[in-house]
Amino acid sequence: MTDTIHHTLKTVFGFHQFRSPQQEVIERVVAGEDVFLVMPTGGGKSLCYQIPALHRDGIAIVVSPLIALMKDQVDALLANGVRAACFNSSLSPDEARRVSRQMVSNELDLLYVAPERLMQPDFLERLATLKLALFAIDEAHCISQWGHDFRPDYTQLGKVRPLFPGVPMVAMTATADPETRKDIIRQLGIEQARVYVAGFDRPNITYTVMPKQKPFAQLGAFLSNRRDEAGIVYALSRKRVDQVAERLRAAGFAAAAYHAGLPDAERRRVQDAFRRDDLRIVVATVAFGMGIDKPNIRYVVHYDMPKSVESYYQETGRAGRDGLPSEALMLFGMGDVMTARKLVENSDNAERVRIELQKLNAMVAYAEALTCRRRALLAYFGDQREQDCDNCDICNDPPQRFDASELARKALSCVYRVGERFGARHVIDVLRGAKGQRIMDLRHNELSTYGIGAELSSVEWDNVFRQLIHLGYLVQDFTRFGALGLSPAARPVLKGEVQVTLGLPRDVAKVEEKTRRKSGAGEGAHRALFEELRSVRKQIADAASVPPFVVFSDATLVEMAKSRPSDEQELLSVTGVGEHKLRKYGAQFLAAINEYRLRTVPGGDIGSLSLTLSDTQRDTFNLYQQGLSLQELALRRGLKDLTIVSHLEELLAAGLDIDLRRFVEADKIPLIEARLEKMGAVGLTPLKDGLPESISYTDIRLVRGAWGKGKAM
Ligand code: ADP
Ligand code: ZN
Repeated sequence: MTDTIHHTLKTVFGFHQFRSPQQEVIERVVAGEDVFLVMPTGGGKSLCYQIPALHRDGIAIVVSPLIALMKDQVDALLANGVRAACFNSSLSPDEARRVSRQMVSNELDLLYVAPERLMQPDFLERLATLKLALFAIDEAHCISQWGHDFRPDYTQLGKVRPLFPGVPMVAMTATADPETRKDIIRQLGIEQARVYVAGFDRPNITYTVMPKQKPFAQLGAFLSNRRDEAGIVYALSRKRVDQVAERLRAAGFAAAAYHAGLPDAERRRVQDAFRRDDLRIVVATVAFGMGIDKPNIRYVVHYDMPKSVESYYQETGRAGRDGLPSEALMLFGMGDVMTARKLVENSDNAERVRIELQKLNAMVAYAEALTCRRRALLAYFGDQREQDCDNCDICNDPPQRFDASELARKALSCVYRVGERFGARHVIDVLRGAKGQRIMDLRHNELSTYGIGAELSSVEWDNVFRQLIHLGYLVQDFTRFGALGLSPAARPVLKGEVQVTLGLPRDVAKVEEKTRRKSGAGEGAHRALFEELRSVRKQIADAASVPPFVVFSDATLVEMAKSRPSDEQELLSVTGVGEHKLRKYGAQFLAAINEYRLRTVPGGDIGSLSLTLSDTQRDTFNLYQQGLSLQELALRRGLKDLTIVSHLEELLAAGLDIDLRRFVEADKIPLIEARLEKMGAVGLTPLKDGLPESISYTDIRLVRGAWGKGKAM
């Protein structure tokens, strides 16, 4: 059976390997068992029911909360040649009749339905007459009031299990919270389900938190490096969303606003344009997101602080579903904390307020942390890591520490002098000797601490106060508008008995520069071809009225741009190219790649390198470009294999675009490279010693050629 599900993975979806725990989940569901699957966004939940749907008799019923999302899933399946449809209120009567007919005549492998539709008595009756492969409940946390996205329609789903006792159920969620998980299992009545919790890490996302100083300028600087990429900017209020979108447009960015206050038609337009890659930036409240399945979102910016770590993780998780490098940037200012507190405290439900305040505190602690972001996030979800991630702002640019004992004493004593009744803003004004009316009225200009902190700017003081709060020297009373008070830990500091070490505020521009990774599609030559393939994809997608990612993901295009397949067989080895898509789109992509190759290589690169190349080497290269194997090259040229190898080695060293993997097995390459790193480009024999037997001299020579590129010259 494993063999056949692998076969389906490869031929239908074009993937080469299962991700953990896909294979085990799929095997269980195919065998008729229930499964509860917790996996982060982008982890690959869909395959866990789609493959079983193809391996079990009958039709798989997939419950999904959003119509727009269903349509994308169905389009994506159809593009892979899988028989799928959706049944919801967006269908015309004709379409609905057609789907009904397909259902009964066994022409569908998967049917997507909204929960309210599924639970209609006549629909349930109809299902009872059919052979059902399985039920898949997507976004299963919507059933729980504990979850962050409760949907009353979902509670009805509890009836499915007793009505269809023999049909396996897969419930899926990305929710990390254990309470919610228990509740989902109980409500769905699948207590016996095997639970799989995949790791929560999203290694391709770079997390960055920047102190909010001039937020719009900070945002602009971030976006101007990413004009061609798609992203979401989240802001807290509708008003702010409108303002930011407007200012971005004025600054020449392709941005649109999205929030619940806009007319339906406008929201649909924005969502559609974004899905179709016609619109780059969406500025939105959190109303935007659930319906967005777009895999190539390259960044998520939080212009304002989110209200909990869960929401933050969920929202940032919308970036990089395709697995390519992506970014999460949050701007964080003390003002946000106050605003968020006020919103929470507006509620009369004391218990609710208590919980939400705790969640908010955790969010603030995360934003202020001077330790690896990923470790902090994963620790929050109960996944303690020992290692820093090397892919967050703190890891990329650790804050410098300095002895802040003197500053801390000034700050703490000023808090004391103003009677522990004022917030950070006012205390900072006193420290800096500000001359505002309020200070005069309160006669705070007569305090001994007035003006003793003029050496720091307000922003610098802000940073000091924030850390003093975070480290527990100061406490902030949120029932009194954030008034600062001294904690017991403050006393020894005031007495000069302990030292206080704080992090220096980080230079925002520098953080940005250090954190900036290569964009998802990589750089240089690959990037140019990637852009061309992207426009081929866009044309195909527009003609078929589907979003581009339904045709191929960005990850697939990047791989194509790098490996430059020259025939169908090679194209098929690219992740994401299954047999159906090969037939449908293969020719167009191969043509584009070939045309690009002809345009860029012979006249251009090889010409400029021709001084160092002999005619015979050039002949080998030309034949290589026709896709010949090593043996075929030798045969055609009438030369020994070894001679061809030496040509290839020299061509590689000269920097010509030769795909090593056509000649050396992919898993051998890193081993040989590691050996080269260690030994340098020495003779073959010392290199071969210490490498596995299976690695031949030919393998080593070719990898050495590629490795030596640029180093030898
Ligand atoms: P989720 O529903 O968990 O958010 P999806 O099922 O949409 O995630 O999968 C996210 C992305 O990962 C999709 O682009 C999907 O095609 C891709 N993917 C899933 N499984 C694999 C796999 N085994 N190999 C390669 N890509 C995969
Ligand atoms: Zn880190």
